[in-house]
Amino acid sequence: MANDSPYDYDLIVIGAGSGGVRAARVAAGLGRKVAIIEEDKVGGTCVIRGCVPKKLLAYAAAYRKSLQAAPAFGWDMQAQFDWSTLKANKDAEVDRLNRIYLRLLADSGVELYQGHGRLTGAHSVTVNGETLTAGHILIATGSHNVCPDIPGIELAIDSDGALSLERLPQRMAIKGGGYIAVEFASIFNALGVEVYLVYRGNPVLRGFDMDIRIFAQKAFSANGIQVINNADVMAVRQVDEYKELSLSNGEILTVDAFLCATGRRPNTRDLGLHEVGVAVAEDGKILVNREQQTSVASIYAVGDVCNDYNLTPVAIKEGHLLAERLFAGGSRYPEYDNVPTAVFSILEIATCGFTEEQAKAHCSDIAVYTSTFRPMKYAMSTVEEKTFIKMIVDKANDKVVGLHIAGADAAEILQGFAAAMKAGITKERLDATIGIHPTSAEEIVTLR
Ligand code: NDP
Repeated sequence: MANDSPYDYDLIVIGAGSGGVRAARVAAGLGRKVAIIEEDKVGGTCVIRGCVPKKLLAYAAAYRKSLQAAPAFGWDMQAQFDWSTLKANKDAEVDRLNRIYLRLLADSGVELYQGHGRLTGAHSVTVNGETLTAGHILIATGSHNVCPDIPGIELAIDSDGALSLERLPQRMAIKGGGYIAVEFASIFNALGVEVYLVYRGNPVLRGFDMDIRIFAQKAFSANGIQVINNADVMAVRQVDEYKELSLSNGEILTVDAFLCATGRRPNTRDLGLHEVGVAVAEDGKILVNREQQTSVASIYAVGDVCNDYNLTPVAIKEGHLLAERLFAGGSRYPEYDNVPTAVFSILEIATCGFTEEQAKAHCSDIAVYTSTFRPMKYAMSTVEEKTFIKMIVDKANDKVVGLHIAGADAAEILQGFAAAMKAGITKERLDATIGIHPTSAEEIVTLR
């Protein structure tokens, strides 16, 4: 019993992914009695079937260009790629991280229930036939891939399936032009698969700055990805061991694997939301206020199940600050301006703040600075890849309101500049910063 509380726990968290685990551990660290319920592996999408395994594959894919550049640096080598080695090592690493997550929960005193959690009241949840009660309940169940209902869609795999392929296909078609589509297109292309990226728009990565989108799509094509714009996969059928895809432009594609990467939906199935009165938006997201509180005062939500970001660090921030507010008198709230994000495609893309279009809508006058250059690490080699940087400044106060990078190490470079943007950095202060030479990042402090 939690102190003199009438409940079994101070906090019950449903969903042991990034946001849920962080909230549970912070609350337990503050001396609260906490339970967490998970029906799958502890760690959630990010650790088990998202960011982490995807990034491991992206590292594997990045060797392609390093190997191509190597002879110019005096390295003479024969390289062979073996998918089964990569897959086995990636699976072992995910298992290791899963064990770390389990240990972190145990060490912080959080009680883990493996099973499906379902709300039965404002303060009660059932799991495996047992009823648990708590002063506060947090829903952090994340999201899942969704595919449109086209004929033969059951023949498609989603990103979970792509991460667990037993064999590398010879040819793969991907439907979609967002984060997952371009990341997996880049990975499989670099690992030797013939990749067709079928996207209903043009260019890929809607929502990103247009110059970045154009630059990135050109780079993807130059890397060998066959980008098919303004077309969609309308139907799939199995023909012998192949998948035959009918496209809206009349083309037929014959491939060994078909990956559908058309967005994600919140995991709200059989949570008892309706019965308990937790309001849900039309797109399936749980509605929350600034306190992360749902329409039932004692029930909260964080992460993909309720926010628009589908980004691990956002879920972690929401979970952490919620636990502090609930149990330590915290007064901090997540800030959603200047949320940096990266696409781990080849070319890598990282972005923070406004696109040029958004900046024009928010600022009365803007200045745009761009730079395109060949990174030094490829200069002597046959690798043609270039880096593109775009900075947008609000002329009224000289503040940097948008920074976009497409090129090697984009994410690593942008993280530090995102902190500067949060702190309100001006172009004048960037100009006063001494660059680190020779780096790609120094371009950002020398833009003219
Ligand atoms: P996205 O929302 O990024 O992209 C979905 C893509 O599918 C878009 O190109 C969209 O086209 C297209 N699409 C949607 N519905 C249909 C349809 N019915 N028919 C044909 N095409 C369709 O989703 P993802 O699945 O790639 O990723 C989900 C989210 O997960 C991302 O938004 C991101 O927040 C997160 N994520 C983050 C990563 C990271 O941080 N590196 C990596 C992977 C995922 P259109 O543009 O025309 O709408």
